[in-house]
Amino acid sequence: MSAIEAAVREVIVCANWKMNTTPASAGQLARDIERLTRVAGVTRVICPPYVSLAAVGQALLGSDVAVGAQNVHAEQAGAFTGEVSAEMLVDLATWCIVGHSERRRDQCEDDALVARKLLRCAQHGIRPIMCVGEQLEQREAGRAEETVREQLEATVAELGRHRAELPPALVVAYEPVWAIGTGRTARGEDAAAMSRLIRATLAGAGLGDQAAVVPVLYGGSVTSATIGEFLAEPEIDGALVGGASLKADEMAGIVARAGVTAAARAAAVGS
Ligand code: PEP
Repeated sequence: MSAIEAAVREVIVCANWKMNTTPASAGQLARDIERLTRVAGVTRVICPPYVSLAAVGQALLGSDVAVGAQNVHAEQAGAFTGEVSAEMLVDLATWCIVGHSERRRDQCEDDALVARKLLRCAQHGIRPIMCVGEQLEQREAGRAEETVREQLEATVAELGRHRAELPPALVVAYEPVWAIGTGRTARGEDAAAMSRLIRATLAGAGLGDQAAVVPVLYGGSVTSATIGEFLAEPEIDGALVGGASLKADEMAGIVARAGVTAAARAAAVGS
C-alpha cells in the first residue's frame, strides 16, 4: 500500500470504557482525556456506559471529541426491557460500537444481529464501529482470516436480506478476541494483514472502491507502549482502546502517537 493510499483515511482513537465509571466520575475523566489529547488530525471518540452518555456529552461540550455508545438494540422500539434503541441515542451519541466480542460472547450476538444493529445506526445517522476478530483456537488452527472474512460476509448477506448495504461511514475494528483485556497483543504485521483482508472482503461484498477508505482500527490490550507497533503499519488507522482508555495519561500517549501518523499522512497528501 502506498503512503498516498493510506493518507486519505481518517486516523481514529476510540475509548471503550466498558462497564466502568459512574455518571459522577465520567465527566471528569472525559475532560482529562480531552485536555491531554489535543492533537491535530486525530478523530477522538469516547464510549462511556449508557448512563454516563449525558454527563460525558456535557463535559465535552465545545470540544471536538465525539461521544459514542457501546451498543444499540436492533429493533426500533417495543417491549425490550432494559434495552436502548438507536433513536434514543440520537441526542446523546454520534458513534456506536457494534458487535463487540464481549457482547458476541456474553449476549450471544451473531453476525445477523450485528447487521441489524448496523442498519439501525445508519437509519439514525450514528456512525458504527463494527468489531470483528477471531478466537485463539481459530488463530491456532490457521483459521483467523477465514473467521473474519465469514463474519463480514455474513453481516453483508443479512443486510442484503433487509435490502440494505454497509453504511458508507463504517469503521471496522479488528480485535482478536484473545488479545482483549489479556495484556497480549497481536503482532503489527498480522493486524496489517487482517486489515488488508477486511478491505478486500468489503470491496468484494459491495463497497467496491469505497472499501479503500474504510478506517480499520486495531483493538486488543493497546497501551501507549504498544500502539506504535500497530500505527507503524500503513493499513492500520487507529485503535479501539479498552482498559488503557480509563487512564487519561495512557490516552495522551496513544493519541500522541496517532497524531504522528496523522501528520505523516497529511504530509503525504500535500507532497
Ligand atoms: C476493547 O474493549 O475493545 C478492548 C480492545 O479492550 P482492551 O484494550 O482492554 O483489550
